[in-house]
Amino acid sequence: MKRLALALSFAASALAQPRPIVIKAARLIDGRGGAMIAPAMVVVQGNRIQSVDGPAPANAETIDLGDVTLMPGLIDAHVHLLLQGDVTTEDYDKQIFKESLAYRALRASRAAKIGLEHGFTTMRDLETEGAMYTDVDVKRAIDEGVIPGPRLFVSTRAMSVTGGYGPSGYAPEISFPMGVQIVDGPDEARKAVREQIAHGADWIKVYADRSYFLQPDGTLSSIPTFTREEMKAVVDEAHRLRHKVAAHAMARPGIENALLAGVDTIEHGISIQDDLLDLMVKNGVYLCPTLTVTEFVAPGRAAEGRAIWAKIPEFHRDSFARAVKKGVKIAFGTDVGGFPWDGPNEAQEFGYMTRFGMTPMQSIESATRVAAQLLDQPDLGVVATGKLADLVAVPGNPLQDIKVMERVSFVMKDGAVVVRK
Ligand SMILES: [Zn+2]
Repeated sequence: MKRLALALSFAASALAQPRPIVIKAARLIDGRGGAMIAPAMVVVQGNRIQSVDGPAPANAETIDLGDVTLMPGLIDAHVHLLLQGDVTTEDYDKQIFKESLAYRALRASRAAKIGLEHGFTTMRDLETEGAMYTDVDVKRAIDEGVIPGPRLFVSTRAMSVTGGYGPSGYAPEISFPMGVQIVDGPDEARKAVREQIAHGADWIKVYADRSYFLQPDGTLSSIPTFTREEMKAVVDEAHRLRHKVAAHAMARPGIENALLAGVDTIEHGISIQDDLLDLMVKNGVYLCPTLTVTEFVAPGRAAEGRAIWAKIPEFHRDSFARAVKKGVKIAFGTDVGGFPWDGPNEAQEFGYMTRFGMTPMQSIESATRVAAQLLDQPDLGVVATGKLADLVAVPGNPLQDIKVMERVSFVMKDGAVVVRK
């Protein structure tokens, strides 16, 4: 009887085995650092890559994509699915005060679909901006096939200190939801890390600085949020629980504090002095630059009266160029959500990266292999035998025209075709 059950289960699994898919393309960037492969043939079985340039199985279904460049599914390592643009303070407060969590979740599900259709099969979501643990639900809905979207790594509520985050400027007697979890003191910091991880956070996100200003010598500075002791408590507790820490840090007070506390990634890094870049290289800390959001929000914020934003893009471009030269590990991130999901395609980041110092190949690797390394996901970010079948194609050759990254024509996630134009 037992043997019969075993035989039946074998038969069932053979029947359930989907037909292999052979994907043909004029070119392939496999994300492993080598040259472009042309032409290319990738065989997918189930949700895995069975072979690259191997023989086509006899029973395979063939998808011939023609004059395209195939590459690993793209990874955006800095997004906010629960945010729909916040150029001005008013844009932000409106979402926190006038949109229920249910409504925000509905908008997030639309954002997830847009991002996936742009070729981003994986995203690290770096906080819900007041929407509590809704990112954990969005991730679950995607994983369970309820809504289409990328595979997600989420960080739930993020953290700052009293006075360190919005909404702000309202009467002290009014209580309202904050855009982050407010923690003061090392004990509260540890407790918040435990709470967020208990509720499903994959990453811990901290805001290391705020309120940017120019010093008399012309350098960009900021006000740090956490004390070194608080920041160390966050990082130590997160690492103790085997989770990593991403720090929003724009200028020296925040960046230095975050690096000395041992964070794993620096987000934005608008103005990073050379000695801090050297420290990032030495400690293997990733930079997630988010050039797109800076270019998008700066004019609106400057017009709103925050004059420093007129200068911020210049600092950002300069720091990015020096980080590339020094060999800092740079993972692609856009901060989409900080600009509207249905606004500029977040793949514009490739254009900015190449304009400010990377080669087209470096920019593509930052959105594939390097971002997968940041996420500790060796099965993502490369096209190779045994890896997860996340693939995208763009028309023509992105090494000749990086703008084609904004015109993704084919997306496969986990072995399933989700876009084919
Ligand atoms: Zn962000």
